[in-house]
Amino acid sequence: MSIVQRYVKATNSSSLADDELHHDTEALAAMALASNIGSLLFRIKYAGDQMSLKPLLIIWRIKIADRAKHRGWSGISEEVADISLWHWMEDFCPECNGLGHPKMPKAPTLEAMTCPACNGTGKKKLKCHAEIYDHVMDVVAWLDRLTAEAASNFRYKLGD
Ligand SMILES: [Zn+2]
Repeated sequence: MSIVQRYVKATNSSSLADDELHHDTEALAAMALASNIGSLLFRIKYAGDQMSLKPLLIIWRIKIADRAKHRGWSGISEEVADISLWHWMEDFCPECNGLGHPKMPKAPTLEAMTCPACNGTGKKKLKCHAEIYDHVMDVVAWLDRLTAEAASNFRYKLGD
């Protein structure tokens, strides 16, 4: 059953008691949230909203499957979706905590030198199979763009 069919079925359900309908509720949540994936990403990454993680993963797998179809990747879309999302959620360099410069020992200041682990980017290196590396990096950049758009929308709404 496609996500749209599940959505239609869920909106027509009169009871949410059994297991099958429980899945429909997930699809419903995914569809409801898909229209604003950027704000969902933002909430999960920066506000620790763990409740939205499962609907996000459903939405993200659908989006990546669609991208894979258009770009002719085969059989790897779920792996690309999952690895990109997990990498993106905790993408800061563990050596410098994402700051780009190592901390001075026993002092609250940063070294002037750039962090050798991340070359000063503050980003963790992606670890995955070489065959999917470029695809994952491509969609991680997409996640960053979606989140940046949501952040600027938030700023606009707050009147900044
Ligand atoms: Zn670093």
